[in-house]
Amino acid sequence: MYFYLSQTMEKHFDIIPLNEWLPTGNFPLVISGPCSAESREQVLSTAMQLAGNPRVKVFRAGLWKPRTRPSSFEGVGIAGLEWLTEVKQQTGLLTTVEVARPEHIEACLKHNVDILWLGARTVVNPFSVQELADVLKGVDIPVMVKNPLNPDISLWIGALERLNKAGINKLAAIHRGFYYYHHALYRNQPMWEIPIELQRRIPGLPVICDPSHICGRRDILHQVSQKALDLEMAGLMIESHVDPDHALTDANQQITPDDLNTLLNTLVVRQSRGNPEFETGLEMLRREIDKMDAELLDILSKRMKIVEEIGQYKKDNNITILQINRWNEIISDRLNLGSRIGLSREFLLQFLQLIHEESIIRQENIMGLKEAGEKE
Ligand code: PEP
Ligand code: MN
Repeated sequence: MYFYLSQTMEKHFDIIPLNEWLPTGNFPLVISGPCSAESREQVLSTAMQLAGNPRVKVFRAGLWKPRTRPSSFEGVGIAGLEWLTEVKQQTGLLTTVEVARPEHIEACLKHNVDILWLGARTVVNPFSVQELADVLKGVDIPVMVKNPLNPDISLWIGALERLNKAGINKLAAIHRGFYYYHHALYRNQPMWEIPIELQRRIPGLPVICDPSHICGRRDILHQVSQKALDLEMAGLMIESHVDPDHALTDANQQITPDDLNTLLNTLVVRQSRGNPEFETGLEMLRREIDKMDAELLDILSKRMKIVEEIGQYKKDNNITILQINRWNEIISDRLNLGSRIGLSREFLLQFLQLIHEESIIRQENIMGLKEAGEKE
């Protein structure tokens, strides 16, 4: 099992709150635009339509596209910067571009791009991130950092840290999901626990969700966007194209500016605090949870003591730690019991696995066993 949770807090970050450099009113920040800039017409017509939507504040477009195979469309490059300047002049939208090389940053700065972002394939490489942070020293520009392809929260934090150390304090993270070998529903697994943990560890860091790259398809964009807002994310980056079906990149996930409008109109923006009466009711329920958690921990601790007693008993009688039959019985019995009282199979399997792993470790300690390479 891979754990993202830790008790650490990253207190050394120096971050300017999002609403001080990009006020969005009472709707979360919306960034939209095509996956790739393809032509002047496509960029300008998409931007004009998006600008008709007061919720869209920032126009995105990829100019340098990191493609798996070199024969795919790799972006229009520097030529697209002129089009973005026109977007700014004609619509008043701010602009943002993915940068992966120091030359990209230099070109963007020359053309007054408002916000930069680092893509998932760049963030996996600390050398690349450091190179970009170095050119950004002394530059006052907001930078957004996508999560790395692999679900490694430290790598994500490390990239944010390199930029922050270089003096970038208008900083945001973008959650775009994680590569997973099995494409079931999502193109990239959301693994919501990771951005939640990022928000907890770096207080004040705005986390923006990118439902487009999580979903890889249009029909579930709304539910993923709603979930992001319900998790207190600061905004959404959603790809939009005037003719999505003919987009040169990510055609399956892009939506028209009209569809984006419908999507945004049907999202529910909830408050993070309620009225005093609600808060009191909530407080009471939370006290009950606190009490139950204390009981739960107490029971777990007692269970582990019995596990150790059994370990000692096995040791004295020269019996193996694991008896597969017994483990089988526990699994089927607890799953049966759990399903009768409303606990999901998935949850119970993880829970049982966790308890079982700890139980084995406890009994190994009693037997005086340590796995090779295990730390004292
Ligand atoms: C993109 O935003 O178009 C993109 C390439 O995203 P990611 O880096 O998340 O794959
Ligand atoms: Mn894309």
